[in-house]
Amino acid sequence: MLIELWGVRGSLPTPLTTGEYREKLKKVLSLAAKEDISSDTGIESFINSLPLDLSNIFGGNTTCVSVTSDSGDICILDCGTGLRPLGDKLIKDEKFMKGADISFFITHTHWDHIQGFPFFKPAWMPGNIIHFYSPVADMQSRFEYQHDYRFFPRKLEEMGSQKNFIRITPLQEIKIGNMTVDCIPLRHPGGSFAYRFRENGKTFIFATDAEFTGEYLESLNVENKHFFDNSEILMIDSQYSLDDSFMKFDWGHTSYTMAVNCALRWNVSKLILTHHDPSYSDSQIASNLFEAVEHRNVSNSDKPEIFTATEGMQFEL
Ligand SMILES: [Zn+2]
Ligand SMILES: [Zn+2]
Repeated sequence: MLIELWGVRGSLPTPLTTGEYREKLKKVLSLAAKEDISSDTGIESFINSLPLDLSNIFGGNTTCVSVTSDSGDICILDCGTGLRPLGDKLIKDEKFMKGADISFFITHTHWDHIQGFPFFKPAWMPGNIIHFYSPVADMQSRFEYQHDYRFFPRKLEEMGSQKNFIRITPLQEIKIGNMTVDCIPLRHPGGSFAYRFRENGKTFIFATDAEFTGEYLESLNVENKHFFDNSEILMIDSQYSLDDSFMKFDWGHTSYTMAVNCALRWNVSKLILTHHDPSYSDSQIASNLFEAVEHRNVSNSDKPEIFTATEGMQFEL
């Protein structure tokens, strides 16, 4: 299973500003002054030595993650603006130009999880078959609504691909190649769903948008048969710092501190923090990661390994 991150920002696309870019440049150039960057190899190794927020951009695009099975079946989690570059990459493979199956698993339909779909080029190609899996009863009409002429110049049915909307129920097992996919509901205004992908005894769980609290965790295991236990990778909503999460109680998102608590409780091996708040700069997101690791260390545990979601990041299971 290959997991690739195409959009990791929460709520709203957040491109780097010129001011932020220049600030990064200043820091990079002052560090470069002491290094040997006279060759391509020197430049590459200098870039690799930079702090995370200088060697990376954490993400302008909103939520989109692809999961490819060992046999090459492609699943896509959500249609945030990260879906556009994913589609642009897929159509370079001629199978997506003339007839391929693509399976979407939709967490929910807040803007930041659907806005990329009209710009997903494989959906415009006749012959491609797009499957939308979700427990939401009116998913088709929600996508059609987004394509109403008041909001977008082309209707959903004008996109050349065939589209199937498949309603599933929580914990119902869907087979995509050798992968098994199921879901459970999450606490979020308007509802959201976590999806679990299992293949060859390995598990990846994607759980955004969700507001995890201590009390909610207690009820989860009872209702959902330990859905979250023992995954190799958990990618989870961690929109806020702990302080901000107190001010934004009931907004439907989780702090990175609570995300670490969840991973410790569920015996997760790798934790990916995602759905970064649009008000956070790259240096703030890097410092959130540092603090999340510190929080884990307080529990005297070297597990989970913690990552902050970054566009272009890949994980293999
Ligand atoms: Zn969201
Ligand atoms: Zn949401």
